[in-house]
Amino acid sequence: MKKLKQIIHVDMDAYFASVEILDFPELKGKAVIVGGNPKGRGVVSAASYEARKYGVHSAMPMARAVRLCPNGIIRPVRMSRYVELSKQIHKIFHDFTPQVEPLSIDEAFLDVTGTVHLFDNNIEKLGRRIKSDIKEKTGLTASVGIAPNKFLAKLASDLDKPDGFVVITEANKQQILDPLPVSKIWGVGKVTNKALEDIGIKTIEQLRTTPVSTLSKVFKNQAGDILLLAQGIDRRIVETEHAAKSISAEQTFSTDVKDKDILLSVLHAQVEEVSQRLRAEQLQARTITLKLRYGDFRTITRSTTFEPTNTTKTLLTQTQQLFDKWHKKSAAALRLLGFAASGLSPEGTGQKLLFSDPEDEKQKKIDEVYDKIRNKFGDDALKRGN
Ligand SMILES: [Mg+2]
Repeated sequence: MKKLKQIIHVDMDAYFASVEILDFPELKGKAVIVGGNPKGRGVVSAASYEARKYGVHSAMPMARAVRLCPNGIIRPVRMSRYVELSKQIHKIFHDFTPQVEPLSIDEAFLDVTGTVHLFDNNIEKLGRRIKSDIKEKTGLTASVGIAPNKFLAKLASDLDKPDGFVVITEANKQQILDPLPVSKIWGVGKVTNKALEDIGIKTIEQLRTTPVSTLSKVFKNQAGDILLLAQGIDRRIVETEHAAKSISAEQTFSTDVKDKDILLSVLHAQVEEVSQRLRAEQLQARTITLKLRYGDFRTITRSTTFEPTNTTKTLLTQTQQLFDKWHKKSAAALRLLGFAASGLSPEGTGQKLLFSDPEDEKQKKIDEVYDKIRNKFGDDALKRGN
């Protein structure tokens, strides 16, 4: 029999908000909302668990968050601090395995199949060590999910958040999956959820006992994959950063979003986040990709390639063009919107050294000033015009 994989998913709890509380302990126990200016078009980047009790969640317009939670404490995004801590956390992951796939600034898959023997073949011991090392070295809490595959590991880390620790095994997986709502399956969005409900399917158990021919009406040719997931089977492998080197940000909406202004402000915040991370890591990108998932979970991507850069303005301009092109042709309500920068190289390499463009130099200086001020006073100290 093939040896089972041992996968761990680590997800920091309310990451940006928790870092704010770590650095400003007086915020502990308060409803903390991290995001842009509530008077402008800012969106929520993160909310502490106290703020979530008021219905505040990420990607929500800040103005709405403030209405829902008037006593919330608003903190600006301090990306370079989050990147700094993220690097520390990342280093901890590599103490346990070289097989690390970062999903975002505060989330990663670890394949520990080859290293669990160093921990007496006890994966729970290994998982608990990751959690306690993160706590000890950074002061932050993480939720950890352990399972034989990526889908179940990610599901596990989410089951008992915050500070969660959940182990899903071949033996208990069906028992855990069965009572969960179908929305816990990757690819089941609001529209499919509704379509399933219409034919009386609410739980994963109901889904997995439905004939594939019935499910095909809802999921088209993905019905087979969805059925496998419902049985806790997922064959995707952990892709290390060498294989998939990109910096990205994405947002799943709680209800599908059609409003162009809202989509653009979410996208702008993502471009800002990604370009700040590029600069904090002294990288430049030559490709950007928009990820657009419709209500029926059809996902498309749109990319463009240009001279390597990490200036916010260039990335924003390119992104806006891509978005406009898509919007003109195929606009529809989105369930997910994402932005990725790839084709990465160290800052300052490539042709730019030979032919430096005065406009680009000017933008670099502007970014430098922005980053400095932002790191000192937060994101709201300066807000760039669209
Ligand atoms: Mg998280």
